[in-house]
Amino acid sequence: MQLNAFVRALDDQLQAKKFHDYCPNGLQVEGRAEVNRIVTGVTASEALIDAAIAFNADAILVHHGYFWKGERPEVTGMKRRRLAKLLAHDISLLAYHLPLDAHPVLGNNAQLALRLGLLRNGPLFPDDARAVGDVGELASPLSATDFSAHIERVLQRKPLHIAGSDKPISRVAWCTGGAQGFIDQAIALGVDAYLSGEISEQTVHAARESGLHYWALGHHASERYGVQALGDWCAKELGLTHQFIDIDNPA
Ligand SMILES: [Zn+2]
Repeated sequence: MQLNAFVRALDDQLQAKKFHDYCPNGLQVEGRAEVNRIVTGVTASEALIDAAIAFNADAILVHHGYFWKGERPEVTGMKRRRLAKLLAHDISLLAYHLPLDAHPVLGNNAQLALRLGLLRNGPLFPDDARAVGDVGELASPLSATDFSAHIERVLQRKPLHIAGSDKPISRVAWCTGGAQGFIDQAIALGVDAYLSGEISEQTVHAARESGLHYWALGHHASERYGVQALGDWCAKELGLTHQFIDIDNPA
């Protein structure tokens, strides 16, 4: 299909224009006009670009693209090398940040919930339609030890757990990526546990002093699933050849 039709289909599906974000959503680097083969990944790192070149991709679709607010504008070093490879191989880069976190089916939060068996009841911030994150429950209550083991099994990665109260876990809130700061909102909602990607020093105290369990799943590990689902959607709905490539990241 034509690149501009591909970009339009994704912009529409993710309602990209509705979001106020820290980066441009949609087409970030323009490549060849015809798109048949796409690679998806969490971050548009040089390793992902190399893998996309090897796959003969026409476009790369990621959650973490380029041109973040506050980033240095000069095209030097790491940024030059990444852009040089994309341009030399005529590969487009498309990135969707908040729109991909928030999508009710293909989004990072929806897909994480699907894999972990979390049933969504509503948004983490009921009074802010633009915020991301969800609240819900486990199909049946679990002890912290069992829930930890379940997370590790599903994500194939040991999460960092800060223990809360001893009672079984039933109500849970979650927000993928670097959303550890939303723990205050999870506490305010009175849930038993909060899950996000990263952890800060103060997250530990907030969890301990409120009796809420906190799991840091890994920023990368928590955001592997949205872009994968979006790539599968492109294969099914747009007829493209899709390959998800996981460039492992311990953070
Ligand atoms: Zn992220």
